[in-house]
Amino acid sequence: MKVLKVDHIGIAVNSIDEVKRLYSEVLGLNHLGNETVAEQKVTTAFFPVGDAEIELLESTAPDGPIAKFIEAKGQGVQHIAFRVDNIEKALEELKARGIRLIDEKPRKGAGGAKIAFLHPKSTFGVLVELSER
Ligand code: ZN
Repeated sequence: MKVLKVDHIGIAVNSIDEVKRLYSEVLGLNHLGNETVAEQKVTTAFFPVGDAEIELLESTAPDGPIAKFIEAKGQGVQHIAFRVDNIEKALEELKARGIRLIDEKPRKGAGGAKIAFLHPKSTFGVLVELSER
């Protein structure tokens, strides 16, 4: 497997509308718009920064993963995403090396990306997302 770069950093927020002012007006980043990923009960907003992006994540339901994260830990950095060249191969290889996977198979993420999460128990507490697009 090959990790190509940090694709994005995912930040859990209560309200994209409220937080986007910081990233667009204060930090001057370009807001690419919002996208809801219904299966994951989340709305995302992307802000490119150089070669990577900031992803704001707002839950669309009280039982969604982002709502649960905020309930447990408060708003803040939720995951780091690495772009890989071949996500199926990467998952196979990581599994063979004993890394616990949340997603055995890639699923559809925002922007048409194929994504999969690794279990934080296997990555020293960091929720790692793999992304291919
Ligand atoms: Zn993400």
